[in-house]
Amino acid sequence: GHNQPPDYLKGLNPEQRLAVETTEGPVLVLAGAGTGKTRVLTTRIAHILATGRAYPSQILAVTFTNKAAREMKQRIGMLIGDENVEGMPWLGTFHSIGVKLLRRHAELAGLRSDFTILDTDDVIRLLKQLIQAEGLDDKRWPPRQFAMMIDGWKNKGLGPDRIPEGDARSFANGKGRELFRAYQERLRTLNACDFGDLLCHPISIFRENPDILKEYHRKFRYILVDEYQDTNTAQYLWLRLLAQRPMSKADNVPAEGRKSDRTPAGQAAPAEGQPPEAAVRPVSENNQQQINICCVGDDDQSIYGWRGAEVDNILRFDKDFPGATIIRLERNYRSTAHILGAASHLIAHNEGRFGKTLFTERNDPEDGKVLVHNSWDSDEEARAVGEEIEQAQRRGHSLNDIAILVRASFQMRSFEDRFIEIGLNYRVIGGPRFYERQEIRDALAYFRVVAQGADDLAFDRIVNVPKRGLGDSATREISEAARRLGKPKLEAAGILAESDELRSKTTRSSLREVVANFARWQAALENTPHTELAETILEESGYTDMWKKDRSAEAPGRLENLKELIRSMEEYESMRSFLEHVALVMEAEQNAGQDAVTIMTLHSAKGLEFDTVFLPGWEEGLFPHQRALDEGGRSGLEEERRLAYVGLTRAKKHLHVWFVSNRRIHGLWQGTLPSRFLEELPDAHIETPESNNSYGGYGNPYGGGSFASGRGGQGRRNPYGASRFDNVGEGSGAFSNTYSTPGWARAQQNRTEATDRNWGTRSG
Ligand code: ATP
Ligand code: MG
Repeated sequence: GHNQPPDYLKGLNPEQRLAVETTEGPVLVLAGAGTGKTRVLTTRIAHILATGRAYPSQILAVTFTNKAAREMKQRIGMLIGDENVEGMPWLGTFHSIGVKLLRRHAELAGLRSDFTILDTDDVIRLLKQLIQAEGLDDKRWPPRQFAMMIDGWKNKGLGPDRIPEGDARSFANGKGRELFRAYQERLRTLNACDFGDLLCHPISIFRENPDILKEYHRKFRYILVDEYQDTNTAQYLWLRLLAQRPMSKADNVPAEGRKSDRTPAGQAAPAEGQPPEAAVRPVSENNQQQINICCVGDDDQSIYGWRGAEVDNILRFDKDFPGATIIRLERNYRSTAHILGAASHLIAHNEGRFGKTLFTERNDPEDGKVLVHNSWDSDEEARAVGEEIEQAQRRGHSLNDIAILVRASFQMRSFEDRFIEIGLNYRVIGGPRFYERQEIRDALAYFRVVAQGADDLAFDRIVNVPKRGLGDSATREISEAARRLGKPKLEAAGILAESDELRSKTTRSSLREVVANFARWQAALENTPHTELAETILEESGYTDMWKKDRSAEAPGRLENLKELIRSMEEYESMRSFLEHVALVMEAEQNAGQDAVTIMTLHSAKGLEFDTVFLPGWEEGLFPHQRALDEGGRSGLEEERRLAYVGLTRAKKHLHVWFVSNRRIHGLWQGTLPSRFLEELPDAHIETPESNNSYGGYGNPYGGGSFASGRGGQGRRNPYGASRFDNVGEGSGAFSNTYSTPGWARAQQNRTEATDRNWGTRSG
C-alpha cells in the first residue's frame, strides 16, 4: 500500500526492505559481512508476525548459536513488542531444534523421549569399549579417530548402510561399517544419541513417516536460516525436507493474491500445533500452503568446511528452490572504511569466490587505521593487549564492546592469566569450557544417573569416584551382569548387590550403598527442588568431601566450581532441563551480565560485532594454522583466509592485529614468522604503531620500546617490507625447527633478556 511503512521497516535500505517484504516464495540474501543480513532476518520475522502472516509457533528460524537465538528473540520483541512475540518455540540452532523434534518422536528412532545426549568424551569411551569388544587394538584403531569418521558420516546424513564402501573398509581391518552399526545399536540400548543424531534421526523420521513430515509442512509456514553458507549436508537435507514439497497450484498463486486473507496481528493465537486457518491459509483448491524459505549468508564467511559444511549449498540455492528471489546487499553498516578496506583486500586473495562489492558511507576522518602490533611472546602480547584495554576503559569504553578473537583456544590461557592478575573482567566463550572441567563432569555424571537411570556411561564415570572399592573387577562384574540381564548398569548393580555372586563382602556392601543412594535420590527427584537435591547428591556421595580432603592446588577452585554449578542450575526448571541445557550449550557464560571483555575463538565469533577487536597470534603456523595447510592444501589456506576475513569484519571502530616473535610449542621456544595474511593487508589501511611511535590516540604502553625489547628489534619494525623475512633472525623456518635444541636455547636466553628489559622499563 501507499501508507506510511511501520516503524520497524524505516531505516532499511531498498534491498533490505525487498528482502523483508518478499515474504512469499524462496528468498536468498547473499551478501558480505556487516551488510545487515541478520538484521533482515530479524525484521522479516517481525514483519511476518506484525502482519499476521503467521503465529510465532509457525515460524522455524535457525541461528548459528544459542546466543544468537536469544538475541534475535529480544530484537524481534523490541521491534514489534514482546506481547506480539510471546516466545518463538522454534527459534534456535539446528541442534536445539533437532532435540525438540526428536523428543517428540523419539520412539520412531527407537528411543524414549527422555534420551541422553552424549558428549564427545562419552562417545569416545563408548567406541573404545566397542573396539575392544571386537578384539581390536584401540591403539592401532583409535576411538577418537573413529568418532571423527562417524561425525563426518553423520554430517553427510549417512547411516551405517549408506556409507561409501571405501570408508567402511578403511577402518579396523574392514570392520568400519560393522562397528558403526554396533555403535548405533549400543546408543539405542543406552537410550542415548550423539550430536549428529540430533539431525540424522529427524531426517530418517521425516523420510520414513510422510504423515509426520506433512504435519510439519502444515505447521511451519516460514523458514528462516542465518549463516546458510555453513550448513552441512545433513542440515541441508533436513531443511529441504521441511521446506520442499511437490509443486501445487497454491505455489503459483502470486503473493499479492493472498493479502486479503491476512488478519492483523494481535488476534488470539490458536493452540500450538493448530494453524490459524482463516488467518493465513491462502485460498487454493487443494488446501496446501506454501512454505516460504529465506536463507541469508556469505560465501566468504564459510569457515566450517573442516566440519563438513558445504558452501555449495548457498551457491546452488536457486536450483534447489526454483523461482528464488536472490538479493544482494552491498552497503556495510558495521565497520569503518579502513577496517572494511583491509578486510576486502585480504579476502580478494582467495580464488574460489563469488566476488562482491562492499562499500560504506562512513567517512569519519577520526577513524583510525587498522593497527598491527608485534610482541616478544604471548605473555607480552597479553600484557600489551591488557594495557590497551585498560586505556580504552579509562577513556570510557565499555568492556562489553571489546573482544579478543583467537585462532586456537590454547591462546586464551595467557589472556586469562593476565586478566586475572590485573583484575580485568573477562568471559570466555567457546573452547575449553566450564562444563568440561573434571569436577563439573563428575557432578553432571551423578545428576545424569539420577535423572536418567539408564545412563551407563555416566554411571561408569562415577561408580568409583570417590574411591569406594568398586575398582576394575567390580565394574567388570557389573558390566557382565548388565549384559546378561539386558538391564542398565545401575539396575544390574542393584540385583548383583543382593545376590551372592559377589564374593567380596566389602564390594557388596559398597555396591549396596551406592544403589541405595541412587534410589533415594531418584525418589527425591520429583518433589525436591533440583538445586537442593544436587547439593545433597554431592554431599551424600562423598564427592564434595573428596575435594575437601584433596591437598592439590586446584582443589579449592574445584570446590568453587561445584558451588557455581549448583548456582547455575537455579535458572532451570528441573534437573532434566538443566542437563539438556548443558548438553546443548555451545558457549559458557562467566561474568554474564557484568561488564567484561569477551575472549573467544574466531570460529565462534561469526555473526557478532564489537567496537574494538583484538586479533592476536597472526603468525605462520598458527594463522594460517599449520594443520589446515597440511590437510587442506590450497582450499585449507582459503578457509583460513575466510576466517581472517570473519575476524577483521567483527570490528566496528578499532581493530588491532598482533603477532609475536616467539612461541612456546610443545614446551619448546621457537621463533615465528609473521602471518602471510599481514602482508595481504594494504598499506593504505594499516599502521604499525611502534614504527611511528604513535598508538593512534591510544598511547604507547611501552613508550616505543616494545620492538626494541625483542632480539633484532630494529629490523623488525616493518614486518611487511621487502626485508620482512630477513628480520626474523633465527626464527626463519621456525615451524620446521620445533625440536632444534640450539634454537630453543637461544630463544630461551633471549626471552630472559627481554623479560628483564621489560621489567626494567616498567619499573623505570
Ligand atoms: P555478518 O555477515 O557479520 O553476519 P550481517 O550481514 O548479518 O553481518 P548485521 O549483523 O545484520 O550484518 O548488521 C551489521 C550492523 O549493521 C548491525 O549493527 C546492524 O544493526 C547494522 N545495520 C544493518 N542494516 C542497517 C541499516 N539499514 N541502518 C542502520 N544500521 C544497519
Ligand atoms: Mg549476521
